[in-house]
Amino acid sequence: MTTFDLASATNHLLYTGIIISPVKVVKARGTYLTDDEGRQILDFTSGQRSSLLGHSHPEIVDVVKTQIETVDHLHSTMITEPVADLVLRLARLLPSPLEKTLLLNTGSESVEAGIKLAKAYTGKFEVIALTASYHGQTGAASSATFSKYRNTGLPCMPGQLAFPAPYAYGSPFQRDGKYDWEAEFDYGWSLLDRQSVGSLAAFVIEPILSGGGILELPGGYLTRLSAECKKRGIVLIVDEAQTGVGRTGKMFAFQEEEGFVPDILLLSKTLGCGVPLAALVTSAEIEKGCRNSVFYWNTTHQNDPLTAAVGNKTLEIVERDGLCQNSAERGAQLTQGLRQLQGKYGGWIGDVRGRGLLQGLELVTKPGAAITAKDLGHAVVEKSLAGGLSCSVVPSPAQGSVIRLVPPITVSAQEIDQALQILDQSLAAVLV
Ligand code: PMP
Repeated sequence: MTTFDLASATNHLLYTGIIISPVKVVKARGTYLTDDEGRQILDFTSGQRSSLLGHSHPEIVDVVKTQIETVDHLHSTMITEPVADLVLRLARLLPSPLEKTLLLNTGSESVEAGIKLAKAYTGKFEVIALTASYHGQTGAASSATFSKYRNTGLPCMPGQLAFPAPYAYGSPFQRDGKYDWEAEFDYGWSLLDRQSVGSLAAFVIEPILSGGGILELPGGYLTRLSAECKKRGIVLIVDEAQTGVGRTGKMFAFQEEEGFVPDILLLSKTLGCGVPLAALVTSAEIEKGCRNSVFYWNTTHQNDPLTAAVGNKTLEIVERDGLCQNSAERGAQLTQGLRQLQGKYGGWIGDVRGRGLLQGLELVTKPGAAITAKDLGHAVVEKSLAGGLSCSVVPSPAQGSVIRLVPPITVSAQEIDQALQILDQSLAAVLV
């Protein structure tokens, strides 16, 4: 078993605001982690929402071994078979005119590239993102992040504008007991029109805002947004870091909205299934239409064979094994179980939301309760980990706590039941 000294290692890790877990994981297979005492822990975080097919899927392990022995890494002018296969596969899976792909490493890098491309295409510089957005940690990506994870107090890119995130559960825009998202949407544009200096380049958006509290875009939202962006010449960038590749029950979450096609689609986490891979996909028109120069991009690991081979295999397995359907079916089972918990712990669970296997449970405090919703969320996550379930907590726009459940899309019915049982026990222990 492991010999590493967690305390010393933690001491030498640069602190980035993340509290290092006391759990020493020595093995990760499928939906389970094993710690140094042999304890099995269900991983309902899929690592950083990236281990889409569970940990160390045997075919992913094989493809990495084979590819690194065949062609590991080349000069960026040289293209290999896995890269050719992946760009062709994406062009086949995606609707027209999405046909031009750049393979990158991380979600943040894909957002940088998407925003740079939108600026090159429009010749403008302002970027709009939702108030609960998360798009990464690098310059443009963190500037387009307005959720709690924004680097507040640090200089950011100029021309960054926030648009109200649709939050059905807590929004003040209610009419006849229903969330009136269109009224809030119109309000958002009226705010933008007053803030913009007239240089709108891009609108970047997640189909389900994960770090912002599992907020689903209402049906019709992307279609209206697309029309508004077209009218104003704004490039619409859909960031599917977490929602792509079967996670929400469809191959890509934007396909939930019939007929809608983004100008730029970004994929990352799930496409790489545990290795650093991202993709930017766009149209020939955007590629060609860049104003003053070409869109120049040349980073060390772009279009790398090793990670491209993994992306290819991931998409192949998701298609071949009908995993979008598994995601939808196990997602329905998870929703049903969470709704039962909501009934059982009335008053503490405000909302259950999400789609497929990206779901959240919003915890709220009862009037007069001593504990804050934030502390409640952390307590439930801690108890669950002790009980054998790893899940995470994200803030809701209303400062509630959202327990986020994101298992691999290979998860079984029995594993969902087991996770629900552990969550039930944790809620019972914390809410008494
Ligand atoms: N976009 C979204 C929607 C994300 O969830 C994330 C990561 N949480 C990113 C971008 C950034 O990805 P990375 O951490 O790989 O840079």
